[in-house]
Amino acid sequence: MLPHIAYIGVGSNLGDKAENCLRGIRALTSGEHSRLTGRSKLYRTEPVDYQDQDWFVNAVIRIETRLTPFELLEMLQGLQRNAGRIQDTVRFGPRVLDMDILLIDDEIIDQPMLTVPHPRMHLRRFVLQPLCDIDPMLRHPVLHQTVQYLRDHLPDDENQGVWELP
Ligand code: AMP
Repeated sequence: MLPHIAYIGVGSNLGDKAENCLRGIRALTSGEHSRLTGRSKLYRTEPVDYQDQDWFVNAVIRIETRLTPFELLEMLQGLQRNAGRIQDTVRFGPRVLDMDILLIDDEIIDQPMLTVPHPRMHLRRFVLQPLCDIDPMLRHPVLHQTVQYLRDHLPDDENQGVWELP
C-alpha cells in the first residue's frame, strides 16, 4: 500500500488518441513509485474552450503513489514531453498527451504551479463521467459533493458531448 491516492485525467487529440492515453497510463504506473488501482472507460469527447480542433479521447485513472504532489506534477510533465507535446501554441489546443492531477487524497493546494482539486474538474463532463466509472461516491474536498452529483447537476452550458468509445 503506497501512501497517497490520486486521480489523474488523461487526454489526447492528436495521432492515435486512445493509444497515446494508454501509453501515458502505462508509463506512469509501470514504475515502483505508482500503481494503477482504477481506470475508467475511454471516451470520445468534444473539445471545450478552444473548439476549432479535433475531438479528444479522455479517461481518468486512480493510482496509489509514493510521490508528493509536486513530484507527481513533474513526473506527468515529463511524460507529456516524452509523448511529443512541445510548447503549446494555443492554450487548451491540440495535444498528443495531457495528464492533469484532479485530486490527491483530500489535499487542497492553491499555488501558481499546482492547483488541487483541479480548478475546472467540477465543470467538465469529460472528467466527471469517467470519475463516476471509478467511484461515483467520491467527494470533491472543497465542494463537498460527490462526483455523481456534480455530473448530474452540470450547468446547461457545460453540456459537452461525451460518448463511450466502442
Ligand atoms: P495544461 O496545458 O492545461 O496541461 O496546463 C499545464 C500547466 O498547469 C502547468 O504549468 C502546471 O503547472 C499547471 N497546473 C496547475 N494545476 C495543475 C494540476 N492540478 N494538474 C496539472 N497541471 C496543473
